[in-house]
Amino acid sequence: MVVLDGKATSAQIRAELAEKVKVLKAEGKKVPHLAAILVGEDGASRTYVNAKVRDCEEVGYGSTLIKLPEETSESELLKAIHKLNNDEDVDGYIVQLPLPNHIDETKVLLAIDPKKDVDGFHPENVGKMTLNLPTYIPATPQGIVEILRRYNVPTEGKDCVVIGRSQIVGSPMSILLSQHNYPGNCTVTLCHSRTKNLRQVCKKADIIVAALGQPGFVTADMVKEGACIIDVGITRVDDSSKKSGFRLLGDVDYNAVATKCSYITPVPGGVGPMTRAALMLNTMKVIELS
Ligand code: NAD
Repeated sequence: MVVLDGKATSAQIRAELAEKVKVLKAEGKKVPHLAAILVGEDGASRTYVNAKVRDCEEVGYGSTLIKLPEETSESELLKAIHKLNNDEDVDGYIVQLPLPNHIDETKVLLAIDPKKDVDGFHPENVGKMTLNLPTYIPATPQGIVEILRRYNVPTEGKDCVVIGRSQIVGSPMSILLSQHNYPGNCTVTLCHSRTKNLRQVCKKADIIVAALGQPGFVTADMVKEGACIIDVGITRVDDSSKKSGFRLLGDVDYNAVATKCSYITPVPGGVGPMTRAALMLNTMKVIELS
């Protein structure tokens, strides 16, 4: 059994990007600049955004963090987005989700200039991804594709089950793995909360991508011997023994499933760090696609 080590792989990707930045600098070219808008005080969102800023520093990108208070109105946020769309120094930016309830997420996503949409959530970029055209691919699915590629995990002709159909993880994941690519060329079944006989469906899968947000949902009896297991889930559960007061749990019953499968991503240290690395890759892509 091979542990797909997202921590080590993402460090390798950052090192490669840092080398690219050095080359850009030596050639007198522009170095990528990523901006992030954070609205409100959500603890997890703050942690994610701070980590993204640290990643930028490590690889040598410019970074700007725009923190807006919880009570920011939709029109104020749209103004901040408009400003970033017109800021020539900012190559790409993200609006950290979730947004406070009084802000319409769709309106916000539509306001982002697709050329700077390094999260790949704008319909123009989703369309390009679906058509297998060069574009920004949402960070979590891209991070998963990247780790499969770097570990040479066989995917062609494999039966793949994706659990969860969100726009940011499950749905794009199902599209990417069914495309005529490596990694890809899978026969994909996209499952969700209304799927019947999910256990039986999973049992036939060569690859399972669990992205539903229910700790330990995928148990050993649902997994075929030798399957590849990608655990996207991150759920914070209280743990007073931790300095942070919580620990992170994945959607897979790791210890039991690990004894049966051929590849598995741990939580933490699997898909999470790969998601961060994918955002750094997308930000470099802005320069490469322009
Ligand atoms: P979401 O809540 O938007 O979607 C969950 C999906 O799971 C839905 O499509 C729903 O139909 C499906 N689902 C729920 N219960 C189900 C059940 N019992 N059986 C089958 N399907 C079921 O979630 P999301 O944003 O896609 O995130 C999923 C998980 O992945 C969460 O734990 C989230 O924290 C985590 N996540 C991790 C990363 C990362 O970087 N590792 C990134 C994004 C999301």
